[in-house]
Amino acid sequence: MSERHDAEERRDETASARLDPAVLQRLPPDFQKAVDFHGHLCPGLTIGYRASKIAMERLRVARGTDEELFGLVETDACGSDAFQVITGCTIGRGNLVFKDYGKQVFTLVRRADGRGIRVAMKYGALPPNPAYAELRQRVMAGLATPEEREEFRRLHLEQALQLLDLPEEQFATVRQVEVEPPPKARILPSVQCAFCGEAVMEPRARLRDGKPTCIPCAVKHGRGWEINV
Ligand SMILES: [Zn+2]
Ligand SMILES: [Zn+2]
Repeated sequence: MSERHDAEERRDETASARLDPAVLQRLPPDFQKAVDFHGHLCPGLTIGYRASKIAMERLRVARGTDEELFGLVETDACGSDAFQVITGCTIGRGNLVFKDYGKQVFTLVRRADGRGIRVAMKYGALPPNPAYAELRQRVMAGLATPEEREEFRRLHLEQALQLLDLPEEQFATVRQVEVEPPPKARILPSVQCAFCGEAVMEPRARLRDGKPTCIPCAVKHGRGWEINV
């Protein structure tokens, strides 16, 4: 088999299958699913995994039960992928609210009574690792040697595994909250945008000169001061 073929085959493997067996065996099976969905193991994914498990445990709910849940994530980083896999609250199902706050905070809520658990990662949960921070800067700046990149990858995985084993009280602040549930997902009619001709869900459409318009076209063809976009 040619080398190129080998490489192609490796690309087809799941992300968890590419992990070192010693690392893989430390990951619970549901976490392996999150790794496969996300495409790699990383500290951020581990944060979302731990937060999801803590919230589900406290709410006493399991994934796929009849209990209706919705989630609220405050980051668009890796952890939100784990949250979707583990809790089953996803963007597409309409039971996930995304707030672009850049915070490692994950909330899981029971729709029936609005009671939820909010898990916020503690600032400095992991002790600072100057060697890792310095290597990351070099890797990001494209200055790292192949050996340094390898060492960075090793430390990156080590951080993920440390987060996985961190005692809960060191990892996060957990508290009970009451949250107003978002409206249930519905199928809504579409209208045609008068500018680009594409379909746009009616509640998201805007009016420009009396014509239905999608939001990007409303911005482009607006006068720069409209407040209803
Ligand atoms: Zn990641
Ligand atoms: Zn348009």
